[in-house]
Amino acid sequence: MSSRSEHPGALGEADGAVPHGTTAFDDEIPGVANLDPALLGALRRAAADAAAAGVELVVDSGWRSPEYQDYLLHQAVSKYGSVGEAARWVATPRTSAHVSGDAVDIGPSSATAWLSEHGAGYGLCQIYGNEPWHYELRPEAIDHGCPRMYADPTHDPRMQR
Ligand SMILES: [Zn+2]
Repeated sequence: MSSRSEHPGALGEADGAVPHGTTAFDDEIPGVANLDPALLGALRRAAADAAAAGVELVVDSGWRSPEYQDYLLHQAVSKYGSVGEAARWVATPRTSAHVSGDAVDIGPSSATAWLSEHGAGYGLCQIYGNEPWHYELRPEAIDHGCPRMYADPTHDPRMQR
């Protein structure tokens, strides 16, 4: 596993930063280990089936500490130029499903393509139209399919708290 030495200003693995190539089976990594157990179980079942189909699911981000989420939010504000625009991409530490362990960001695009086709069968759903990498557990999706996506997080009632 690579270190984060290429990003010396970034917070470390204990805050939820994950090394490149992390998978759902790397449970010594806090960003994976601190995920909601039901989400992690669904993700592992999906990852195993995807692997059998020749597709690797990589966890680009999972659980994050409030400090790491705050760092990402500040980065987004400087990248997008305003708090309002940043809110379309990064939640606050209080509202983020990553901080509660209820969201994973998956890559690469072959993996998100596989998940968009098969994820509902595991209860794994894309939540935001603008974030094809962001998945959360929606157990009812197994029987009923995934709920309609929000265009972006600013349309999500959970983000209005
Ligand atoms: Zn996400």
